[in-house]
Amino acid sequence: MNITRFAPSPTGYIHLGNVRSAIYPYLIAKQSDGGKFILRIEDTDQARYVPGATELIVETLTWLGLDWDEGIIKGGDHGPYYQSERRDIYHEYARKLIATGRAYADPTPGDVIDAYRKADNEAKIPYLYRNHRPENMDLAWEPGIPLRFKSEPSPMKWHDEVMGDLETGPEVMDDIVLIKKDGLPTYNFAHIVDDYEMQVTHIVRGVEYLSSMPNYLAIYKALDIEHPKFVSLPHVLAPQGNKKLSKRDGAKSVTEYRDDGVLPEAMLNYLACLGWNDGTEQEIYSKEELLEKFSIDRIQNSGARFDEVKLLWQNGQWIRKIFDEQGVDELYSRTISADPASISSNKANPTRDSLINFWPDSASEYSDEYKKSVLAIIYDRLKVLSDLREYTNYFFEEPRVDLEYLQNNKFIKKLSETEQRDLLTAVFERLQTISKDDWTADNLQSTFNELLESTKKKPAELFSLIRIAVSYAPFSPALHLTCAVLGRDRTLARLNATRSAIVNDL
Ligand code: GLU
Repeated sequence: MNITRFAPSPTGYIHLGNVRSAIYPYLIAKQSDGGKFILRIEDTDQARYVPGATELIVETLTWLGLDWDEGIIKGGDHGPYYQSERRDIYHEYARKLIATGRAYADPTPGDVIDAYRKADNEAKIPYLYRNHRPENMDLAWEPGIPLRFKSEPSPMKWHDEVMGDLETGPEVMDDIVLIKKDGLPTYNFAHIVDDYEMQVTHIVRGVEYLSSMPNYLAIYKALDIEHPKFVSLPHVLAPQGNKKLSKRDGAKSVTEYRDDGVLPEAMLNYLACLGWNDGTEQEIYSKEELLEKFSIDRIQNSGARFDEVKLLWQNGQWIRKIFDEQGVDELYSRTISADPASISSNKANPTRDSLINFWPDSASEYSDEYKKSVLAIIYDRLKVLSDLREYTNYFFEEPRVDLEYLQNNKFIKKLSETEQRDLLTAVFERLQTISKDDWTADNLQSTFNELLESTKKKPAELFSLIRIAVSYAPFSPALHLTCAVLGRDRTLARLNATRSAIVNDL
């Protein structure tokens, strides 16, 4: 049975790489019978605490469908799940280390420690605190005095599920701080205690923690406790260069992508495959498929580059998949609110509109049924749901007749204005004979084909002319579908408006 945890620090922004460190442990836990996924908040660094950050974490996990079994909000047998509320537990473990002579109170002031570091740097010797231990190593520890680990440098060997067998020499081990002056533990100590108490079987986290591994292993040994398996995830790299992805590279946070209309299924799919594959060419995975196919031994051991184009491509695939498999109603429900479930938690985040709607403002007057009919003909063009704002205006408001736009079209250009006028007249007259009841996509398609024959024009010329006259948009769905959704009155009025403008221009 696998027990894993996501243990973010509430420092504000949830980076995509951080989220991957939630997805993999989620999959590892849920793949095993009775497995548990824990959400623990590592808030011992009070200086970096950002109000609202925990809500953002909860919102992100909820949106992605990464439901936790134990943790904040939900509770569980190993709480509390905020580290700041577990002080007594850390102190108990700290006392065990003091009792066995493996931890010591260290009142050395910060400026003295800085001076040690500076002197070592100047002398070009590696700065190791163990070379500067205080004279009195037996000072009674009490909160208010930092507590340090008393290292016993030795070579270390360990196995990482992703990085393989690793080893280091004694030179990297040091007397790291276990409990700070404020009485709260450091990450280095707290996570060891918590993972043990919470019976975590796999620690899934970024490779940035690898260099501290020898010290962690020494603490496990000094506490005489078993350590979990280590699963170190390589960095998510910026689109260019070899550096770690950061906010500065323009990578948005998960919730920003959500607010642009990226679907949670696509985000989960993209991030899960960023540094993992099942050895096939498959690119689209549902959560159920990931649960079936994910395996630790296929996590790559080198960095994976963040590629927004691929994320958006996958999102387009997911938009189609949801429409095809679950129907227009389901896809529509995603377009009228990015995340209805999170509305209550948005209260903690006043900057976000609580009801994200991906339609143009002008659509608000229209019925759900009408918007669904628009969605049903445009969905396969969307990369993100917010594309609706740009692509569907003409379904909700009258486009401005713009002869220059019309004449600039490469196909229409080939026709004189008189020809354009005559064609629009012919089209208008023919379409007018179709009654409101017969105004269906099928009838329109055959009528357009008839018009093609009677006018003897190339499809690109005739259809571009009609298409632009009814939409004035750079592209639109197939003409018969567009006109069917627009309806008889609107289609005819728009054809007429452009025809009149041409007549006035002649
Ligand atoms: N609190 C750490 C962070 O946010 C978590 C590391 C871990 O998973 O152990 O980076």
